[in-house]
Amino acid sequence: MKSSANKVAIVTGGGRGIGLSIVERLLDDGYQVLSCGRSERPDAMPAKVCWLQADVSKAGDAKNIVERAEAELGPVILLVNNAGVQVEKTVEQSSDEDWDLVVGVNCRGVFNMSRACLPSMQKRTGNIINIGSISGNVSDPSMALYNASKAFVHGLTRSIAVDHGPNVRCNAIQPGWIMTAMADDAFALANNPEAAKKDALSRHPVGRFGKPSDIADLVSFLASDQSHYISGECITIDGGMTAASPLQPGLF
Ligand code: NDP
Repeated sequence: MKSSANKVAIVTGGGRGIGLSIVERLLDDGYQVLSCGRSERPDAMPAKVCWLQADVSKAGDAKNIVERAEAELGPVILLVNNAGVQVEKTVEQSSDEDWDLVVGVNCRGVFNMSRACLPSMQKRTGNIINIGSISGNVSDPSMALYNASKAFVHGLTRSIAVDHGPNVRCNAIQPGWIMTAMADDAFALANNPEAAKKDALSRHPVGRFGKPSDIADLVSFLASDQSHYISGECITIDGGMTAASPLQPGLF
């Protein structure tokens, strides 16, 4: 999917995990990339990536990220809203600070970044890819705010697609278990993390957990002209896990 045209992308939260894999794939696809996170530039960040220390939950930071990308690289044609946080609590356990963190990054961050990119994208062309989650469709226990925040991402994806075509396409990716620091934190919550991991693995028809590069592959496709007729979709990528009936396998 390489092209010589000037292609500029922003990937939020590209410092590690899924985001870093997306950054690397887009470089390979010929994009100039700006990425950001609340931390300083990570050592693993490829030298040609423009890095900005910024918090997408703040509208001013989001505006600054887009202005910096336009000034240093050119008009942004691709925005990947990947930055996300999770808090492992029920509604009853969640504090106001938990709400501000999860809704601030996962919901407001996607809104802030999309709003900052849309005016220029609408004038030319643009593509927004949001990283949602299967947790926005089926609820992981003790992840109340996270689950709800991802359902918001899926809803906003459809609204952007409906309101901002024809120049802008918008889709969401709904990953299942992708082995990153975030997935490790979720397994660590279980009473018996090893048993939980074994059980989760047995529910994957493809026989393995996901890798960050699995998500980067789908981003690459959704960013390309080969997906030109796809907009407003939320695409699950979970190795078949949520395709299964919830009935206990051995009993039928
Ligand atoms: P990680 O926790 O490994 O990485 C999250 C990234 O987001 C970090 O680089 C972090 O950098 C950045 N980030 C967090 N808050 C902000 C903020 N306010 N502003 C800018 N950047 C921020 O997570 P994953 O790679 O696992 O997840 C990436 C995305 O995929 C998330 O949206 C997640 O919800 C989603 N997802 C992941 C799944 C999985 O199994 N791993 C499953 C389904 C969805 P820093 O801390 O420096 O700010």
